[in-house]
Amino acid sequence: MSEKKVFLIVCDGMADRPTRDRKFETPLDVAHKPNIDELARLGSVGLVDPISPGVVPGSDVAHFALLGYDPFRFYTGRGSLEAVGAGIRLAPTDVAFRCNFATVDENLTVVDRRAGRIKEHTQDLAESLNGMRITSTPDVAAEFHSTIEHRAVLVLRGPSISRMVSDTDPHATNIKVAKSTPLDETPASKKTAVALNEFTEKSFEILQKHEVNIERKSRGQNPANIVVARGPGTLPPITPLTVQYGIKAACVAAVPMVRGICKISGMEVLNVEGATGGLDTNLDAKAHAALEASEKNDLVFLHVKATDIPSHDGNFEMKKKILEKIDKMFGTMFDQIDLGNTYIALTADHATPISVRDHSADPVPIVIAGPDFPPSGLKKFSEKNSAHGNIGRIRALDIIPMIADRLGRAKKFGF
Ligand SMILES: [Zn+2]
Repeated sequence: MSEKKVFLIVCDGMADRPTRDRKFETPLDVAHKPNIDELARLGSVGLVDPISPGVVPGSDVAHFALLGYDPFRFYTGRGSLEAVGAGIRLAPTDVAFRCNFATVDENLTVVDRRAGRIKEHTQDLAESLNGMRITSTPDVAAEFHSTIEHRAVLVLRGPSISRMVSDTDPHATNIKVAKSTPLDETPASKKTAVALNEFTEKSFEILQKHEVNIERKSRGQNPANIVVARGPGTLPPITPLTVQYGIKAACVAAVPMVRGICKISGMEVLNVEGATGGLDTNLDAKAHAALEASEKNDLVFLHVKATDIPSHDGNFEMKKKILEKIDKMFGTMFDQIDLGNTYIALTADHATPISVRDHSADPVPIVIAGPDFPPSGLKKFSEKNSAHGNIGRIRALDIIPMIADRLGRAKKFGF
């Protein structure tokens, strides 16, 4: 263990895009956040390109970069991250998919991609599919688990399979469930598409007769009568950062994908009561869990999803309110942190501007405070101010190496 501690706090989609119609003021500009602003004054401030200027990142790719892994080299799809985040052990040859329970009519036309946002008995439904025998590819086994609400994870396990196949999820309603097709010419991709198509057809045969669905129909609810899959992925071939830098690390996050990346990065993934990944998440519980985890770890990664949700909804006021709540979480942490031996960094995985209602390629602000990051002297933490900070403009990929260097854990390049 290092003598110094690190907190890396990532607020999902926190950054915004200043626009003329709002006098170039963002939720970060107008939110009352004395603790975060104080951190910006005491620490070094700059701008971060999540990937590089003009590249719009998904949250998964952005988190790869934030943890120091070049997504162009190491990103191998989303499904594997979800599977690991859900607690499933993956072998390097497994292919994992993100799935939804959906509702289809007798022609397999999608009526509802989320089966009425089903919440109950999804585990019973999943059990009826888990371990399914795929007869057209008999050496491939299907492992299937429900996760949160209508979501689930499918793992195809067997020799010579590939993630290079298309989704069965048509990503829209009133069209048929898609047939998976190979995305390259390899036999492995062809075989995987065949296996996935058989799993999908059989999921309909089994689920439409399932007693949970018979009851749902009798109550007038949409039955969860098929599984549609998307985002195939394999385990990324990365060296855990805990191994790379010889540190111990833990993660406080509720979003399964983030939990998955953190686990693959070698972190202990903590379960925090009340951490939901939603607007109602218990930030105070997360702060306390992070502080407690720092006693046994060098690095604690804390992820807050709540900033991204109002951003996708275009809700400026709600984003501001969430930032004010997050500021209180910082207040709790500051009381117990000594900047003489602790680094605390705050940034976003990407911008989700209110005006765009989706991720954008805009750079995001960062502050890093600690024993040897000089103060920026800036009075406010915002997108505009960060352009005048003393870190300059870096890539997300640079953050972990910069901190590892301060911890004395970076290896010299060259002699
Ligand atoms: Zn995100």
